[in-house]
Amino acid sequence: MTRIASHRGGTLEYGDSTPAGFRATAQMAVEEVEFDLHPTADGAIIVHHDATLDKTTDSKGAIVTMTKAQVCEATINCSGGAHPLTLPQLCAIFRDSPVDFRCEIKPGPDGLPYPGFVAQVVDALEGEGMVQRTTFSSFLIATLDDLALTIDRPRLWLVSPPVLRQLGPKAMLELAQAYEVPEIGVHVDTADAALRAQVQDAGLDFGVWAAHTADQIDAALDLGVKVFTTDRPSLAIARRAARTAPAT
Ligand code: FE
Repeated sequence: MTRIASHRGGTLEYGDSTPAGFRATAQMAVEEVEFDLHPTADGAIIVHHDATLDKTTDSKGAIVTMTKAQVCEATINCSGGAHPLTLPQLCAIFRDSPVDFRCEIKPGPDGLPYPGFVAQVVDALEGEGMVQRTTFSSFLIATLDDLALTIDRPRLWLVSPPVLRQLGPKAMLELAQAYEVPEIGVHVDTADAALRAQVQDAGLDFGVWAAHTADQIDAALDLGVKVFTTDRPSLAIARRAARTAPAT
């Protein structure tokens, strides 16, 4: 069965990386919750998509330059007045949920990995008892390589449309194999059966991300990908369930 990952807690249904979205996701018939992490200046880990607060909250600033208290004062847009979660707060929401973690380790505002952040995240997840329920993802090969040296957990490379276009499937797969990355995720609109076959023939798992519309969700299900992320988890659950419902 194709797995569903509720992207940032279901952005189009609950706002971007909101406590309400994550709490709702913990109760849903999805297999994974996708979220993004950034470090603060004083050693905390924040669940937020962008490296800055500028676009999705009432505040401004790069998370890495702010204290945890400063970041957690921000109000997330369309969240009913809620504030960004720390990683321990997210872990508390999912500790008793069957929904597993799909943890994206983000780069900083300069597009480069945060020094030492992979080890910091792995330590925190280990401390929370959640690391054995975590698949890691990143757009950055350097971060995936760092993960491989730090912990033996599933990792997947998020390949953006320009990178896929510039490298082409063959070079993309050669790079993945050179770094022993076992799984690739591409934007759903760049996925087709030929690419899926190429990835699978190379011995890698294949997934897609950003399947937000009904057509995109159907495309992911039609392709039979391993997993897809979606901002509309409720819609994805309904469309997957409709395919598996017994005929009457
Ligand atoms: Fe993400």
